[in-house]
Amino acid sequence: MSDLLEKYVRPEKNPGTACKGCGLRLAHRRVLEAIDELGLGQGDVVWGTGIGCSGRQTFVTWKGDTFAGTHGRVYAMATGLRLALPPEKRLILTVGDGDAFTIGFLHLLNAARRNVDMTVVVFDNLGYQSTGGQYGVTTPLGSRTDSSPYGAWEPNWTQGGFDVLRILKEAGATFLARHTVLQGHEPVESLKRAIRNPGFSLVQLIYPCVTHYGVQALGTRDPAAIYDWFRERTAGLIEGDPGDRFTTGILHDASGSRVEFSAAMRDFVASVQKGERHV
Ligand code: SF4
Repeated sequence: MSDLLEKYVRPEKNPGTACKGCGLRLAHRRVLEAIDELGLGQGDVVWGTGIGCSGRQTFVTWKGDTFAGTHGRVYAMATGLRLALPPEKRLILTVGDGDAFTIGFLHLLNAARRNVDMTVVVFDNLGYQSTGGQYGVTTPLGSRTDSSPYGAWEPNWTQGGFDVLRILKEAGATFLARHTVLQGHEPVESLKRAIRNPGFSLVQLIYPCVTHYGVQALGTRDPAAIYDWFRERTAGLIEGDPGDRFTTGILHDASGSRVEFSAAMRDFVASVQKGERHV
């Protein structure tokens, strides 16, 4: 067991549930690296998890406090915790692309609107892989999946001029970044900035699924070939339609620019109690 896993992950949860060769363990590790480089310990972070491959891999793995929610509910639970916990306690949520951008999206948008101090890390495996490999809103156009045997043709939220992170920016998020897990230390730097932001942060971490996306869309289960495919398509920030490339980098950093939800609520309640507000 590596030092990092020994320090932060419950021994019975190592090596985790991800398939052999999956990039999900690397994604999990990137978050631990960021926590470690920020000098945070078990008592400094409360870790929430969603549903799917990402939820299974990270569920109750953190040696400190943890919680889990069904699709989208983990943001609502984190909002309640944010009100109950001291501001210095960091809330980190690891969820999948379905949990964040489709099934749970309305909850996510409202957490961004309120600028609730939490860091959402979206482990994006480009579709619904835990249920056998169906297409979702981040599945690249043309991908063959269980539910798109002739290739995914619907508009998605990362190509054709759309970007789901721009929707979150308009909703009020104060830090937004996207990376693949194969970009070395870059995602760790973004995760650190996200965790430090006293407001709503989201980092999308795209990772290779070897069992379903690799086999169905790329025609191989060979991790080296699949990882090469991801590397070839990874680009920096691109204005407009990135075509079939993954646009990566910090897309929005307005850290500290908006009042945070729990601080605003405490101020509001105090002003009501002082009789400064009237119905
Ligand atoms: S199904 Fe795909 S994404 Fe899920 S753990 Fe296996 S390889 Fe990873």
